[in-house]
Amino acid sequence: MTSCGSRMLSQDMHFFFGWLSNGNSQRRINFIGFGIHGPNRCSLCLCNNEDHNHLFFECSFAKALWWNVCDRCDIPRMTKSLDEWIRLATVSWHGKSFVNFSRKLGFAATVYCIWQERNARIFADVSKASNLVFDQIECIIRDKLVLIRNVQQTDENIRIQRLWRVNNMDS
Ligand SMILES: [Zn+2]
Repeated sequence: MTSCGSRMLSQDMHFFFGWLSNGNSQRRINFIGFGIHGPNRCSLCLCNNEDHNHLFFECSFAKALWWNVCDRCDIPRMTKSLDEWIRLATVSWHGKSFVNFSRKLGFAATVYCIWQERNARIFADVSKASNLVFDQIECIIRDKLVLIRNVQQTDENIRIQRLWRVNNMDS
């Protein structure tokens, strides 16, 4: 199986969250968001101004990704704010169960791929359709989940493995 960028995920996510927590994002978005689409225009939908919540959660392009990820993670469809997702990840999905790991991974991979797609459009003038970005998310998640050994074969775990099309040799 080819790598879908999962090795880069941790490194890039570390940078991304550092960038967010430093309060640089709005300033950077304001700085680099100029061009043919006008200042601050979202490069994914080309319809709205870009800020954190729009880019990652409110944008129609991002919402389609989140709903697919929520379906695969077996959670209600939601496009909450970054703070709410982090609260869910740290409070509701605490622990190291296979299901909770897949949900946290789903969150990280989705944010990562939205961020990558946004940057590719701005800096390289290349774009992918939403379904291809979702394929990338799926590939990253499957690459990680397939490495987990001795997954308890509960109904929930089996369901998650099937949803992400994980063919674990230990299963
Ligand atoms: Zn948008």
